[in-house]
Amino acid sequence: MNVPFRSSLLPLALTAAVLLLAAPAQAQSDRSRETASTGWATQNGGTRGGSAAAATAVFTVSTAAALKTALKASVGSGGRIIRISGVIDMSDGQPYSTSADMKSRARVEIPTQTTLIGVGSNAELREAYLMVKANDVIIRNLTIENPWDPQPVWDPDDGSAGNWNSEFDGLTVDGASNVWVDHVTFTDGRRTDDQNGTANGRPRQHHDGAMDVKNGANYVTVSYSVFRLHDKNNLIGSSDSASSKDSGKLKVTIHNTLFENIGSRGPRVRFGQVHLYNNYHLGSTSHAVYPFSHAHGVGKESKIRSESNVFQIAGVSGCDKIAASYGGSVYRDDGSILNGASLVCSWDRNVGWTPPYSYIPLNATQVAADVLAKAGAGKL
Ligand code: CA
Ligand code: CA
Repeated sequence: MNVPFRSSLLPLALTAAVLLLAAPAQAQSDRSRETASTGWATQNGGTRGGSAAAATAVFTVSTAAALKTALKASVGSGGRIIRISGVIDMSDGQPYSTSADMKSRARVEIPTQTTLIGVGSNAELREAYLMVKANDVIIRNLTIENPWDPQPVWDPDDGSAGNWNSEFDGLTVDGASNVWVDHVTFTDGRRTDDQNGTANGRPRQHHDGAMDVKNGANYVTVSYSVFRLHDKNNLIGSSDSASSKDSGKLKVTIHNTLFENIGSRGPRVRFGQVHLYNNYHLGSTSHAVYPFSHAHGVGKESKIRSESNVFQIAGVSGCDKIAASYGGSVYRDDGSILNGASLVCSWDRNVGWTPPYSYIPLNATQVAADVLAKAGAGKL
């Protein structure tokens, strides 16, 4: 065909049709070429990741070394697909000695136009922290064991009694646009927070966030994912003083996702137009390790639209811990259920925006079954 690449839609459509005819079985089993079809990630030109990768830019990796090589490889204009096979331990069995050691060895930085996708049902990254600073990234069908910083730092001014804080989130979206996280399970896994004792009268916290979105990041969708057994889950907007970077950005959709026995931040939001629908929250204020503190954190200039979510949280009876006040002034919920009854909040509902994309939310009564059946790694 003598038509220049991408000069019109016709040759692309013909190419796609030929590929489908040539390999129908492969097209059905390999979903690494799918693109974001829901939420904010469909906007701003869409999120394609490595969906158009050349055959030579599709890597299947099962070791830390092979993953690093695939991340750094030179690829053509179609980007890359990296398929994760089995459990990869980024430390190669050599525990990190210090935060600095971990910072260099555990880093998994995802380049632009990349799809990172697990093979089958047991793909997992351990002892890693994922960093997305480049635009157009897809992460699917993967368990991420939240990273464990060996050196928590004591901050006497954090809260009324001081706190231990750690570096490293499971995934940080730092300044990037168009990121789709789908069927990803974030969990403290082998290293739950009850194993570390206390110092200065406070639990030694070796974890930071599960997935944080900050520094003007934008057009992010999290779909059919799981946040389980972790204290501080999703922080969208890391500082009240980041207005110059974050105001008008941090547009994030989270839908059909399970939040199971998490402490807080499901998510906590500053600045962003954040759409949270059809999520299922399970927990208890008296959970032995991760007592529920709050779900949605309504922070500075946040504009959260909550819709047909289900909160089944023992010990919570009102809106104040479902949409907890962290300096915000507006919050809108439609059709959510708290412990079997309609969620009733007294927030100013004027969030000032409506989703520009199409979506068809389930009725809240259908959410638990849908999310339990479909959300998380291994269910793609
Ligand atoms: Ca922190
Ligand atoms: Ca963080």
